[in-house]
Amino acid sequence: MASFQLPVKTLLRPVLAESNVSAFAVSRHVHHQRRSCHHHHSHSCHPLIKQNNNKRKNQTNHFSTTTPQTTDKLQSGLEFNKSHWAPSYAEKFASLGNGQQPQILWIGCSDSRCPETTILGLQPGDVFVHRNIANIIHEGDLSSSCVIDFAVGALKVSQIVICGHTSCGGVNAALGDSKLGVLDTWLLPLRKLRAQNLSTLEKLDSKNAIVKLAELNVLDGIAKIKEKSVVLEAMEQRGLKVSGLIYDVATGLLRTVDGGEESQDEIKARLTAFKTS
Ligand SMILES: [Zn+2]
Repeated sequence: MASFQLPVKTLLRPVLAESNVSAFAVSRHVHHQRRSCHHHHSHSCHPLIKQNNNKRKNQTNHFSTTTPQTTDKLQSGLEFNKSHWAPSYAEKFASLGNGQQPQILWIGCSDSRCPETTILGLQPGDVFVHRNIANIIHEGDLSSSCVIDFAVGALKVSQIVICGHTSCGGVNAALGDSKLGVLDTWLLPLRKLRAQNLSTLEKLDSKNAIVKLAELNVLDGIAKIKEKSVVLEAMEQRGLKVSGLIYDVATGLLRTVDGGEESQDEIKARLTAFKTS
């Protein structure tokens, strides 16, 4: 597998093109153009960046006459941070310097189109975050386990949200059969869900199959989060809620994923098996 390539998004207007914009107004200027991939799968097409490959290939001849020059986004971001963003939050940073009290733990995908705080219209200090490829909860993953443990046990968040999204490259990869190296190991829980729900997924076109598997993955993540004793204790003692969402990258809308009510027997079995003290 080739190393990760960064998506090219030359159509985006430079963030700094306008002054006097608030931090959140800026995000509204960043239009993610809807695009479709016209070429079929090939060996050069990494499943996680499938949608961008066509763009890259045709970039020089097709866009050279129609798009503004590319901007160094890190450089412009650094300038914006200093001149606009930090000053606009001056008061907020006085209190943030003393600590955080986020209500929400967000577990989402690393995808650049899913910036949780922006999507929710919230601010620094509001959301404690863990993001990885395809928002997968692995039982043995030290990183997500530590984040959950700290957010629940120390920060006492009142909500854990696990959020999947449409057009997820990780989910798409798990629905395909290309060898990806270490990513294959990471995506194993998704492949397991694919196997368990094969007949359902095979009836769907690829776009809907991605959404379906993303939903199943969110529900699987919720189930695994509820196998952690620190979570079960907080649910019991202070009403911690664990819920699921799907974010539509083409509309910007979030919707709830509901696995249905657990029976009393299921709840009892879960608490008996996983709650330790
Ligand atoms: Zn994703």
